[in-house]
Amino acid sequence: MKKKINQVAKLLFESNYAVVMTGAGMSVESGIPPFRGTTGIWTKYGQPKMDSFSDFKKNPTKWWDDRRNLTIDKHIMELRESLKNAKPHLGHYSLCKLEKNKYIKSIITQNIDGLDLMAGSKNVIEIHGNRKRLRCLSCNKRINLGEYLPVYAPEPCEICGGTVKFDTVLFGEPIPKDIMEKSRQEIDKSDLIIAVGTSATVRPASGLFWIAKSQGTQIIEVNIEKTKLTTISDFFISSKAKSFFVDLENELFANSNH
Ligand code: NAD
Repeated sequence: MKKKINQVAKLLFESNYAVVMTGAGMSVESGIPPFRGTTGIWTKYGQPKMDSFSDFKKNPTKWWDDRRNLTIDKHIMELRESLKNAKPHLGHYSLCKLEKNKYIKSIITQNIDGLDLMAGSKNVIEIHGNRKRLRCLSCNKRINLGEYLPVYAPEPCEICGGTVKFDTVLFGEPIPKDIMEKSRQEIDKSDLIIAVGTSATVRPASGLFWIAKSQGTQIIEVNIEKTKLTTISDFFISSKAKSFFVDLENELFANSNH
């Protein structure tokens, strides 16, 4: 393991533009379960219908009522509970230090928990949104919510009159154009990607790995089990997210011989 961490540190040192891409596995050690994998809530409850955006569009009022009255899937209940008091773990702070010291240029996360921002990371692209924000479906205006999460449908957008929903991207919902463009720009600039805790199955986010690979970007995968991504990764590190980032921070900052 030490040898692999040393290798990652060398690659980071040699790279011009390294990007970290994270999935639900990054936040498992903050108490938030992933969907897939051995500890996944879908593994526990079964995979839900993948049409939540079409349900929302059909009847936004019912969508909000269901959440308020808790008539929602068990897996959503469990995820909501775990998100309530979740805090960044040491790995999130190590990742923040890597960004601050310019070893990595940006973080593209599929997570909606906001833990990277909470840990202090700055150049964070939340490709599936942030649960503590609202977004207008027409003009993409975002509203930060802080600790207060609404339980009734918000008023239409004050700018364009569009429907306002939680910023988190539902199944079947397009990724907002500005976010997709920003993510693509980061991928196009990258020469190294460190992919942590993602099953690389949710499109279009996962497609970014294949685009990067086709452009010659090296991919390091960090996960507790092999995934679809392993077939195109340049190397696979079998590790939990927290210890990976903490070890990498120690390697980079305790040893300047890279
Ligand atoms: P996923 O649930 O499909 O896969 C999780 C991956 O993490 C698996 O490959 C698993 O082996 C790995 N993993 C589990 N524990 C780990 C650990 N401690 N360290 C490293 N890896 C670990 O997750 P995904 O690929 O991100 O895609 C699913 C979708 O789930 C995303 O769109 C995301 O928005 C949503 N999601 C987000 C959260 C969150 O915000 N924390 C939680 C659950 C689901």
